[in-house]
Amino acid sequence: MSKKILIVLSALASFFLFIHLKELKERQLDVPIFEKYSYSKGTAEEIEKETLPESDLSDYCLRLINSDHSFTDEDLTMPLKPLAEGYEVAEVVVAPYESMEKAANKAGITLKIISAYRSVSYQEQVYQDNLSENLNQGSTKKEAQKLTEDYVAKPGTSEHHTGLALDVLDVTWLDSGNGLVGEFGETEAGKWLDEHCAEFGFIIRYPKDKEDITKIQYEPWHLRYIGKEHAQYMKTHGLVLEEYIELLENEQHEKKESETSKSTSKETTKKS
Ligand SMILES: [Zn+2]
Repeated sequence: MSKKILIVLSALASFFLFIHLKELKERQLDVPIFEKYSYSKGTAEEIEKETLPESDLSDYCLRLINSDHSFTDEDLTMPLKPLAEGYEVAEVVVAPYESMEKAANKAGITLKIISAYRSVSYQEQVYQDNLSENLNQGSTKKEAQKLTEDYVAKPGTSEHHTGLALDVLDVTWLDSGNGLVGEFGETEAGKWLDEHCAEFGFIIRYPKDKEDITKIQYEPWHLRYIGKEHAQYMKTHGLVLEEYIELLENEQHEKKESETSKSTSKETTKKS
């Protein structure tokens, strides 16, 4: 009888010890997570303000080009420099692209440029040629325009006019007869670019899940140079250029407002 009680007691004791240890373990796990969140994370808004890179919205590399923000040949204020195979880019893009190319090589990927700088007048010519072709094939003017704009950016709305954009694939993909299609994003090279291009200052300008904002279908090959700090920030926070520029503009607006209110309060102090 007493043996039975002893067994029951020791079983109970080890059960409570187990629960206690488990609790301790869980608490220990909770601590670093709690600390991590309370010290370095804060609210989403706080992080953005804390770590938003220094920026000058008139910086050529931050220029936003889309159907609402156009570009003319006169806006090309940065000199162009040659890259491999006669492609030209804005001079600031040469060194970062070459570094990225080398890093890709080390990972066993041979990048291949498909398109780089295109002038607005060249785009106009491509657009008109495509439009005439569609008209010749019997489309109405409206239909022909629609067909053309499905494949050719309207002159003045392409990032390629800036010299900051490049269309890039890799040799393996090209050699198997593929081109500029979304599936490139699933290849080793497409994944490598997505993962590493920000380290060299590039962004995948038209990602899959932001088509409603960029108004451009997913283009895993279209890289836009924006600078390392900006690119890394955008990647970390999952932003597209439209969102990022808005964030920078809001921050600048807030800074101005707080400066104005500071100077106004100083003036009030002086007067009184
Ligand atoms: Zn492109």
